[in-house]
Order: sequence, then C-alpha cells, then structure tokens
Amino acid sequence: MSVNYAAGLSPYANKGVCGLPEVFDSPEELQNKVAILAQLVQESQYMVVHTGAGISTSAGIPDFRGPNGVWTMEERGETPHFDTTFEAARPSVTHLALLALQRAGYLKYIISQNVDGLHMRSGFPRNLLSELHGNMFVEECGKCGKQYVRDTVIGVMGLKPTGRRCAVIRSRGLRACRGKLIGTILDWEDALPDRDLSRADEASRQADLAVTLGTSLQIKPSANLPLVTKRNSGKLVIVNLQPTKHDKHANLRISGYVDEVMTRLLKLLGLDLPEWEGPTVCEIAAETVAAPSARRPPRHRQDGGRGERAGRGHPGGGGGRGLAAAAVKAEASASPAAPTRPLAWKTGAVRPPTRRGRSHAPLTAPPTLRAWPAPLPRNDSKPSHSWPRPRPPPSASSQ
Ligand SMILES: [Zn+2]
Repeated sequence: MSVNYAAGLSPYANKGVCGLPEVFDSPEELQNKVAILAQLVQESQYMVVHTGAGISTSAGIPDFRGPNGVWTMEERGETPHFDTTFEAARPSVTHLALLALQRAGYLKYIISQNVDGLHMRSGFPRNLLSELHGNMFVEECGKCGKQYVRDTVIGVMGLKPTGRRCAVIRSRGLRACRGKLIGTILDWEDALPDRDLSRADEASRQADLAVTLGTSLQIKPSANLPLVTKRNSGKLVIVNLQPTKHDKHANLRISGYVDEVMTRLLKLLGLDLPEWEGPTVCEIAAETVAAPSARRPPRHRQDGGRGERAGRGHPGGGGGRGLAAAAVKAEASASPAAPTRPLAWKTGAVRPPTRRGRSHAPLTAPPTLRAWPAPLPRNDSKPSHSWPRPRPPPSASSQ
C-alpha cells in the first residue's frame, strides 16, 4: 500500500488549516532552546510525548498539512505521488531517539496520531503507546479484542473487516474465537479506540511534562491532550516547523526539524541513538536500567501534587470511562460544566454512542478543526454485549 493512505479516506470537507509557512529558529536559538528542553526533561518525573505526521516525513511518509502535505496538495488541486511503502519505511531519528529516552527512564508514554506503525516497529513498548488513529499493521478481533500485529499492512480503512478470523483458543481449548478481524485505521468520524484514548488521557493527567513533536495540533481530541497536562500544572513544549493551534500555551516553543532537535537533545543528555535492525515489536516495556527520574526524590508540587488526580477538580472531570473525553471537551469549550458522558466530534452534531462503545459524543468544535470519532457504520453484527471487551490474554497484543 502506498504511504498515501489518506487516499483511502472518505471525502471530508474541512481538513483544517493547511500549508502554513514553516518557521526556523536560528542555530543559536535552537541550541539554547534544546538546552532548556534537556533541563525540563531531566527535571521531569513523568514525560509524555505526543507525535504527529511530522516525525515520519524524514522516513518518506508524507504529512497532511505541511507545505507538501497530502491535504495541502489536495487544496492546490495536485495529486501527491510517493514511492515508498509502509513496509519499507524505516523509523526516523526521532522514533529511535524516543526509544532511547524511554529506555533511559525519561519518557513514560507516547500518544501518537500516526498510523504508520513506526513507533511500534521501532521497538517502542506497546504498553507505553497509544495510537489514537489506528495502526496500519494491526487488526483486531471485534469479538474478544485481541490484536494481531502483521508484517504487512492490513489494507482496509475505516474499521472494516479484513476477511480474517480470530484464532484465540477459548479457555477450554476446544474451539477458537472465530470473531471477525477488523482493521484499526479510523476514517473520518470513526470513534477513537476507547482503550488507547483512556490510557492517553490518564498519561496526560499524570504527566508533568508534555512534548509535542511534528503535529499542528488540529485534530481533536489528540491535540487537546497536551493541554490536559498544562492544566494540571505540567509544562508544555511544542516542537514543530509550522505554527500550531496551541503555541500560545507552550512554555517552550521550538521551531526546528524534529530529528535535529532530538539529536541535540540526546547529545545533551549523554544518550546514544539506538541501532535499528529491522521491524521489532515489543509488547511490554522492560525495567528501565537507568531510570534517572525514578532515582530522584519526588518533587513536591505547589498545587498539591498529582497523586490525587482522579478526584481533582478538573473542570471537565467526570469519572471513570468518560474522563478522557470529558477533559477534552472542557478544554475545547472552556466550560466549567462539561458532561461526564463521552463527547462527539463533528461540528455541532450530537451522536449516539457506538455499539463498540468507542464514541466520544458530540464535540462542538470550531469549524477549522476536524474530529475523527463518531458512530461506526459497523458491518458486523453483534450487539453491544461484546463491549467492554475482555482483556486479551497476556500473549495477545499489548494494550
Ligand atoms: Zn477473538
């Protein structure tokens, strides 16, 4: 499959602001800013990184809204052409640098909008990764929830059946689950995967440092999760060439190539870039050896700390499952009374929950923003008793 997976998405009118000019910090400015970033990383107890298409452009995979992004070209009436494939793409310097930061104990969680699978194939632990818009290489059983990681792209879009069946053997070992496998890539208005979104929200609340890399922060709810950290008194660092929607909220704004920023950061931290020896999937993170942040004494926060986050008075705070979406809604509307039920996406429209329980209800988003989740036109059949899905067995994939 061509890396222009966007061609497989349904038509959609408003894709956000595209083609803004790129801005570059001077070399001195860049070095000074990365030094500040290094200090923030070293001081952090729980760093979360949010990644967008900009971290994969150096791997040959196009972004969406950059000067030559897919949507930018579409606006110009041009058709992008790309030679590489998802299978052939190699993790970028940034992907590998993130792996180094995780192994060194600095990076606790990645929240990605990317579907290219490069975080996973770089060997980044899947239990520390939320892929909010799906993964080209992953298909999932609609019945028991087991995920299957493949060597080649699944090839279907919009959570459609892949034609394969689940091979999980049930407890008695008598017969396999046989549920229909579906692709995990979202189309416009598909609901985000509940499990990934919940974990992303939890990580964002726990974080004291959010770093966004290569995203213009226009897609909700992904784009608003870094603000959850900021609202909880964490710090926000934005690294992107184009302006982003949330620049005004950033404690530090770096305008440079993400690969260059990460290279300089690793150098300042005394870390090496890991070698990549081909696609590697790591389901569970090993104990970090260095764990520098774990060695540091806990920092006492003026706001009373993050330990009580579940009950904190976040304006959007609900409880339980609706928390992620509620927080995002609060951020979007600046309303003190966000509902606890999940939210929606498309501008102004209220949508019922999906059968898979993935919908996050109506978001009244500004017209320039897009949102993915919403009701699924499911092709398969089973009513809602299959949700919440049972946890896959440990040998099954990850999350
Ligand atoms: Zn199954």
